[in-house]
Amino acid sequence: MDKEFEFLVEEILRAKHVSGEGLRRVLECSDGEEEILFAAAREVAERYFSKEIYLRGLIEFTSYCKNDCFYCGIRRGNGKAERYRLTEEEILSCCESGEALGFRTFVLQGGEDPYFKDDRICSIVSAIRERHPHCAVTLSIGERSCESYRRFFEAGAERYLLRHETADEAHYRRLHPAEMSLENRKKCLYDLKAIGFQVGCGIMVGTPYQTMEHIHEDIVFMLELEPHMIGIGPFIAHKDTPFGSEPDGSVKRTLRLLAVLRLLFPKVLLPATTALGTADPMGREKGILAGANVLMPNLSPPDVRGKYLLYDGKICTGEGAAECSSCLRQRVERIGYHVSDTRGDHPDFMKSSGE
Ligand code: SF4
Repeated sequence: MDKEFEFLVEEILRAKHVSGEGLRRVLECSDGEEEILFAAAREVAERYFSKEIYLRGLIEFTSYCKNDCFYCGIRRGNGKAERYRLTEEEILSCCESGEALGFRTFVLQGGEDPYFKDDRICSIVSAIRERHPHCAVTLSIGERSCESYRRFFEAGAERYLLRHETADEAHYRRLHPAEMSLENRKKCLYDLKAIGFQVGCGIMVGTPYQTMEHIHEDIVFMLELEPHMIGIGPFIAHKDTPFGSEPDGSVKRTLRLLAVLRLLFPKVLLPATTALGTADPMGREKGILAGANVLMPNLSPPDVRGKYLLYDGKICTGEGAAECSSCLRQRVERIGYHVSDTRGDHPDFMKSSGE
């Protein structure tokens, strides 16, 4: 039995393809087989990243959002969400302490907040690049026009995260209100890639109505897009959303999918997400041991952390940036890995970043 499973794992790695049936077999494997899968994923990750884990300092700078995604705690329809915006100076001060703590990437993440017009974003990005020339800026601020993306890139942002959430049209419509479209989401991702960003897409595992076929469609889409980063974490319900009483996604399935993605995309930047650490106290360590190579601790000021709640029970909302960073470094060391002090670009971008 193990031989057949080993062969399937090798075949996924060799062919950079998995059939719908193969995916089901892997995601529903036994615990013994799981170890074969994870070991193969770790070996591939080590080939490109040794045992280095890249840290990204996450700055959640606005909890306002004009959208109403059914799964999200800061959707505009949630009247109970606490709203805040950080000023440019506050964002810069997060970067200041972040660089002192060893961070070489800042991820500016927020809802789709019309207050942050292109000019404001460009001004923030160029100020960060000017003060921290050895650090990369990643934006995660949703759908904008191709022209806006171009301006952000010219201002110095080099990476962009935009989860596609699901590549299946019908499933997308069950997770989002009618005014949002999968077509535009995909267009944004292709625009970003064409401009030259290192692009990240991704999904939540176990969203309502998600089937195995949907996950397979996600993989097919990702193989076509060829993203540089893939963010996946388990779906965790937020009580004040239409999906408030839906069951959470499976940690096991998330870990197995992480491993499959590592086999299919050997060089991809793959975070062990905070959602994974929320669903399981050892989730981030388990993610690394399943092939992940990125962690995204929070650099937002402690007084706003408890307000950026996309889902319930989010971890690390009480810690300061220094505590978070040293806790994560220790966790990484304990499982035999270490935190890198580089910007952690995708291997294909290393040369252009001067590392
Ligand atoms: S998922 Fe993003 S776009 Fe959707 S409501 Fe939440 S913050 Fe806004």
